[in-house]
Amino acid sequence: MPGSFTDEGIVLRRVNYGEADRILTVLTRGHGKVGVIARGVRKAGSRMAAQTDLFERSRMQLAEGRGELLVLAQAQRSSGPPAGLATDARRSACAAVVAELTDRVLEGHLPDEAVFVLVAESLDELGDPERDPRRALVWFARQMIDRLGYAPELQRCVSCSRPLAEEPAAFSAAGGGLLCPDCRRGDPAAIDCPVRVIKVLRVAAAGDAATWTRLRLDHDALATLEAIIERELEHHLDRRLRSWEVLRALER
Ligand SMILES: [Zn+2]
Repeated sequence: MPGSFTDEGIVLRRVNYGEADRILTVLTRGHGKVGVIARGVRKAGSRMAAQTDLFERSRMQLAEGRGELLVLAQAQRSSGPPAGLATDARRSACAAVVAELTDRVLEGHLPDEAVFVLVAESLDELGDPERDPRRALVWFARQMIDRLGYAPELQRCVSCSRPLAEEPAAFSAAGGGLLCPDCRRGDPAAIDCPVRVIKVLRVAAAGDAATWTRLRLDHDALATLEAIIERELEHHLDRRLRSWEVLRALER
């Protein structure tokens, strides 16, 4: 087929369109984020309906159409089902954050293999009933914030530039990193971080997945890490993530 290609894609967003179609936002491995129209998939018996579900990963044959959107010509599921995502409200709310954040920060048609792998692995982890979805989401968000170019300063105080001693500090989203105790009052919105949370932030910043999986993260540590991420996203994105608010409401 002229003007068509095959690629692995993950459905980040979907809306119904017309009588029986769907418009999808798909993150592909080799072509970046693309808009796709899936024709006829809401008709009974459509062979591709399941592949247009949220967070589905499949091998897609995509053809250039007349407009901006690519046309989904064929789709074959390429990985096992993230089963927990469909049945567990909390896990699917976390997956929605992954999808919304990815959709929000990526520009179209710019392939980024590392982001594709990060999203795919995060969704797999979120769908795995043996693994903690909060942990998976914190790792994902930390990696995405760094990739956006907002990696926080974690070694020196962002106000006075002195190297941080091994003592509690405070995370300032507006300042772009940690504040030493002397400068803490410079940002009333800063979040107090015990030493162990600072260490966790440094492991995540180093992209050290092996050490990350061995870290013990209790409820308080995760809550602090989530509060930091929430503050950073508020600061760096022009509007709040709707899916994050849904997740927080679910947790309350
Ligand atoms: Zn300072």
